[in-house]
Amino acid sequence: MKMQSINPATGEMVKEYDEMTPQQAKSSVEKSQQAFLSWRKVGFRERADCLRRAAGILRSKAGDYARLMALETGKPVRDGRAEAEKCAWACEYFADNGERFLLPEIIDTGAGKSYVTFMPLGVILAVMPWNYPFWQVFRCAAPALMAGNTVVMKHASNVPGCALAIEEIFRQAGFPDHVFRTILIGSDRVDALIENPLVRGVSLTGSVAAGRSVARKAGEMLKKTVLELGGSDPYLVLSDADLAAAAAVCASARLINCGQSCIAAKRFIVVRPLKVSFESMLVEQMGAVKTGDPLLDETVMGPMARLDLRDNLHRQVVKSVGMGARLLLGGVVPEGRGAYYPPTVLTDVSRGMPMYDEESFGPAAAIIPVKDEEEAVKVANETSFGLGAAVFTRDLANGERIAAGELEAGLCFVNSQVKSDPRMPFGGVKDSGYGRELSSFGIKEFVNIKTVVVA
Ligand code: NAP
Repeated sequence: MKMQSINPATGEMVKEYDEMTPQQAKSSVEKSQQAFLSWRKVGFRERADCLRRAAGILRSKAGDYARLMALETGKPVRDGRAEAEKCAWACEYFADNGERFLLPEIIDTGAGKSYVTFMPLGVILAVMPWNYPFWQVFRCAAPALMAGNTVVMKHASNVPGCALAIEEIFRQAGFPDHVFRTILIGSDRVDALIENPLVRGVSLTGSVAAGRSVARKAGEMLKKTVLELGGSDPYLVLSDADLAAAAAVCASARLINCGQSCIAAKRFIVVRPLKVSFESMLVEQMGAVKTGDPLLDETVMGPMARLDLRDNLHRQVVKSVGMGARLLLGGVVPEGRGAYYPPTVLTDVSRGMPMYDEESFGPAAAIIPVKDEEEAVKVANETSFGLGAAVFTRDLANGERIAAGELEAGLCFVNSQVKSDPRMPFGGVKDSGYGRELSSFGIKEFVNIKTVVVA
């Protein structure tokens, strides 16, 4: 079987890769286990040195990686360079802090000695998505490796070039052979890997359907999972919001990565007195963004990553309009090649419409008018997802009360865009998954929290 990189800006094939045979994939897991037996005994300092060298490579070759991301996913090169830099940050963050996060905790039980220690689990299977083809992998792998695990990574089928480039970074950084391995296989072969007794944990970032499938198999095999799934992030615009500032943040939060981010803003819940002004500001802000060739430095928004994703977004827009939403901007598939879709704004979006009920993974905004703050919070929570959320208000205490106490989401921000940060935990509730990545919480997901008592 072949795996293909298709350039979403042109529809042309960039390169073809051979899928691994089942035997090759199995052998990668076995070698990863062999590597684990030594890697777990390597000190934190040596592991940290490897991660720091990986950070150096990411920075020095950021331009090459950005070009690869552009060719396989349509991500503009300026965003790809920033993504490589963020990966370097995560590597350095866990190099600097990993040992401290995993220091044994002494507990006074009256025994001669009693403490909790954090030991690596073994081979961790990482199933990764294409939308941040470098960042998703590094934010999962850097803490897992620092903790002493080894990682076998199955990347999304449309980014085999990125998958192999990442494996090469770890190799060049001096990680011992097989401590990080990329395996090129399709999603239909993930279950066989989960069944392999040598795989001790699974981390998946992707859709709800993929999460359910992996969790089902991992449950059957009694394996720990971390699931980072979709989101339908609400941005609440309250009556005392600084409207111009809110609209600017909302536009950028919707269009980030051409709208293809789990934490992109998706539903704009606006109190009625502000609705008309917010509509025109959002249309102005989003309408000012032009799509272009992702390989050009000046491009801020490229095509979507695949034609099927673009067509699905268009279906959501058209169906919502058919059900009564009003189209204020975009909404027309452009002529010509490539998976381009224009910035699109719909208003009067309501329950039952795809743009209200489903995750919209592309540059289309849904404005949902509400009576007041209470209804805004109710609508924000009226989703199966619970990843990110933001609230805009000049009353910071009230904004914080809503963010911390009312919104059912894993990441809640006041007056700013939801972002990931290696220092803060990242993850969701409800159908957005469970477990956390990044921070001290993330590094403890794939460890044996071991009680040690010496009488
Ligand atoms: P996807 O289809 O679920 O793919 C993600 C990964 O899972 C790919 O490697 C894919 O492999 C694999 N996969 C798909 N179905 C599988 C199955 N039944 N069993 C095992 N593995 C399976 O997701 P996507 O459409 O590429 O990515 C977009 C989705 O990911 C959105 O819902 C988005 O919100 C979510 N996402 C979440 C986060 C987060 O941190 N919460 C971050 C980014 C994206 P193949 O490519 O070979 O099919």
